[in-house]
Parts: sequence; C-alpha cells; structure tokens
Amino acid sequence: MQSMSAQESERSAAERGEALKEVFAQARGCVRCPELAATRKTVVFGAGNANADLMFVGEAPGASEDEQGVPFVGRAGKLLEQLLGEIGLARSEVFIANTLMCRPPGNRDPQPIELEHCHEYLLRKVELIQPTVICTLGNFSTKLLRGDPTGITRLHGQPEVLTLGRRAVRLYPIFHPAAALYTPSMLETLREDFTRLPELLALGPPHQSRETLASGEHPRFGQPPRVEAPEVEDPGVAPEPETPRHTADAPSGGGQAEEIDQLGLF
Ligand code: URA
Repeated sequence: MQSMSAQESERSAAERGEALKEVFAQARGCVRCPELAATRKTVVFGAGNANADLMFVGEAPGASEDEQGVPFVGRAGKLLEQLLGEIGLARSEVFIANTLMCRPPGNRDPQPIELEHCHEYLLRKVELIQPTVICTLGNFSTKLLRGDPTGITRLHGQPEVLTLGRRAVRLYPIFHPAAALYTPSMLETLREDFTRLPELLALGPPHQSRETLASGEHPRFGQPPRVEAPEVEDPGVAPEPETPRHTADAPSGGGQAEEIDQLGLF
C-alpha cells in the first residue's frame, strides 16, 4: 500500500478523496486474513464524508453490514445517528469505519492478527480523511488505537491527542452504542459524552509536526499493537438482535457480486 508524504497532507480534499477510493479498491480484494476473506460477502470499508472532521471507529461488521457493505446499519447505527442528531450532526457529515473491514464468522471477537492486518487500512483512512476528532466506540478500537489495554470504562469521555500514522488527532473514546442499547445507565453516559463532541471539534486539529508528516515511519504504529479480547469487567458489545453476526452464511469465496456505493458521499 502506498504511504503518505508531507505533500500528501496538503493535497486537496478532492485529491485525498480519489486516493481513498484507490485504497477502497485495494481493500476490496484484500485476502490478508484467509478465513475472513473466504467467509465475507463484502469488505465494509467505511462510509460517509471523505473529508469529515469527525470519524468513528467501531469494532467489526455484523451480518447486516456484511450484506449491505455499509457499517452500522442496525440498531446500534440508528442509535449512533440519533445521538449525532442530538448534537446537530447528520451521519452524512461524519465518516464511520471499524477496526476490521470483514465480518468475523460466528460473531466471534476480532483476532489480534486480523486487527494487525487491517490496521494499515485504518491508518490510511485517517491520513486521507484527516479527521480532527476520532471517536473510538468501545474497547476494541480504543485499545487498538491507543496501543494500550486500558478499557473503555476507565477512558470514556476523556479526549487525548494521539499521533496515528502520520496524523495527530484528538482521540475521544466513548461506549459502543450496541452496548448502550441494553444498559440505560450506559446510554446516559454515552449521551453525556456525545454532548462534549461539539466543543472538541471546535478546538480544530491538533498541531501537526513537520517531522511526523515527513517521516516514513508510523511513529506510534510502526508495529500495530496487539489487542486482546476485552477484560471481563468492561462492557462488551452486545450483539444486535436483528443483526446477529453468528448467522451462518454460505462462504462466498470473498467475491463481491455487485458494486456497492459504501463510500456514499464521494
Ligand atoms: N456494526 C458495525 O459496523 N460495527 C460495530 O462495531 C457494530 C455494528
């Protein structure tokens, strides 16, 4: 995969959008994880505004996402849209991605090696979309992007500046909406954390160091961190009843029968 130069950070939104489409085309043929490539129906690259200030990173596609090629299409997605609406944002204004682009069969957790394989794609999305704020939804994405096993219960609602790839961003961990669907107190906390998003976005992008932009290395993620399954005391992501990831699908051989406009807006 091509990496980013200092000039790339100054490319126009249209140029970055075109580059993102190229990464999408590469991702659609990805076979880095043989099991996922053999069982998926689609590669759920991510969807939304390719020049968004706000990006969300969830866990992995479920059965409905795998069918439709679009992240967060079930009840958790509806809740995410509702919470966005409450702070005056539409889904079409943000970009939504996951730590994994392929559905793990049997509703199992993403494996460390799969997270590692998909990590480079996620960093490219960050580099090309150039979000100001990245909201990690739940444990998997929070642990992955922070490179640290501290769980979401400890970290939610606390923004920090992190360098991802060659891009400094404001990372903002929050509970996963699928977990909040079934726990009213968690939904309340998630809603409260959401209300801080506008002020965080208003801060604008954190300082981008020239060294970081020019470097050929990923300063924090030269080696993607290994992420273990969430700790027991941390709320996990409850499967959505209408989008069970464990619905058995006939293996498709990784092919995508039809063109899916999962990037939506560009
Ligand atoms: N749908 C997604 O795309 N990701 C999740 O983490 C959950 C549901």
